[in-house]
Amino acid sequence: MTSENLNSMADLVSLCKRRGFLFQSSEVYGGMGGFWDYGPLGVELKMNVKNTWWKEMTLRKNIVGVDASIIMHPSVWKASGHVDGFIDPLVDCKQCKARFRADQIDLNKACPSCGTADSFTEPRDFNLMFNTRIGPVEDTSSVAYLRPETAQGIFVNFNNVVETTRKKLPFGIAQIGKAFRNEITPGNFIFRQREFEQMEMQYFVKPGTQMEAMEEWKEARLNWHLKNGLRSENLKWEPHGPDNLAHYADAATDIEYKFPMGWGEMEGIHSRTDFDLSQHEKLSGKNIKYVDQQDGNKKYTPYVIETSVGLDRTILALMCDAYQRENAGDKENERVVMKFKPHIAPMKAAVLPLMKKPALEEKANALFNDLQHHFHCDYDVSGSIGKRYRRQDEIGTPFCITVDFDTLEDNAVTIRDRDTMKQDRVSLDKVKSFLIERL
Ligand code: ATP
Repeated sequence: MTSENLNSMADLVSLCKRRGFLFQSSEVYGGMGGFWDYGPLGVELKMNVKNTWWKEMTLRKNIVGVDASIIMHPSVWKASGHVDGFIDPLVDCKQCKARFRADQIDLNKACPSCGTADSFTEPRDFNLMFNTRIGPVEDTSSVAYLRPETAQGIFVNFNNVVETTRKKLPFGIAQIGKAFRNEITPGNFIFRQREFEQMEMQYFVKPGTQMEAMEEWKEARLNWHLKNGLRSENLKWEPHGPDNLAHYADAATDIEYKFPMGWGEMEGIHSRTDFDLSQHEKLSGKNIKYVDQQDGNKKYTPYVIETSVGLDRTILALMCDAYQRENAGDKENERVVMKFKPHIAPMKAAVLPLMKKPALEEKANALFNDLQHHFHCDYDVSGSIGKRYRRQDEIGTPFCITVDFDTLEDNAVTIRDRDTMKQDRVSLDKVKSFLIERL
């Protein structure tokens, strides 16, 4: 058997649309650049990824969660540096009006869009934050921003969390939520969007211990991606050198994934020092310090290790990695199979009555209704059984359960394994335990 990995993003985009993983946002109106909608299968996949991250982070003694609002006091973004510094250099092509990030193209070369030489405007600063207004009065005091990162919702709740949970350092606060960036050049499918979701955890530590904590989190985070099924050869570290280290960080490294268009950042692990908490203390005038009862009630501002992973980029990596075309070139036996790990797969099993016959459907429905309470299952009765297997392979369903005419006699079904395509005959009362064992 031959097997090929994904080599073009276009193949994945087409599968995602055809099978209901992802649709262009507002497609009936022609779509909008940088915005995507998750469809019926995509939303299940997303939920599974969120759940594994949330459990990984919060099923620990020293990490708790929050869910902060998307629109926060505008001073939050002044303090964090986003109002003055969350800027990309923007250039336009005078000929075709295409827009580019000046740091992503060679300004001495012709426009990549229309090929005209010497056609770029001077770079100008462009703030990536979306702004909006609060309340009915359109004056400057009512300007607010859609958050460009979820982290600040954690920092401004630091005192609230310490007071209510009595957590002692080191401890972390986790959050999953939407973030918005008016990216100049969104693209590469869901890699760079204008509305996306982040899964972030800020880990507060005693100053001086941050490097140790950073090493621990680097290992934990890489392991999480591996546990979800990403192949190690498609993952690498990309440490930030002194030139691209953010002004607030004393160390940073990214986890990059080898997407079809090349290596790209999926997660950042940053040592953010005491920058954010100190800034909020300064601008709010409130005391944001930790009282260390284990160290003579010393008061200090904790240091922070941040793990920040894009939910959508993780999903993109998982889909790229799972995609396999088997028996490529042999049209008759070719199949595309998404080899998701079972905990990631949107559907865990599909119940397939061999034919549209009331006796078969009755058995199949009873099985489906029973399994539904335990696993997300699909039910498909249309087309040949071979076609139905292919359809389930393409969405990554680990098991297909066929109810056939023998079932009516022996009360057993055929369970087909997605990866090996091996079939087992299992009695109806054992199907659930068969699946539980393997999922
Ligand atoms: P990039 O350099 O690709 O713009 P970044 O360094 O600005 O990313 P961070 O601010 O560190 O990204 O955000 C943390 C994570 O959020 C990233 O690793 C990525 O997974 C995700 N992310 C950031 N920007 C986007 C976006 N426009 N679309 C989708 N995910 C994003």
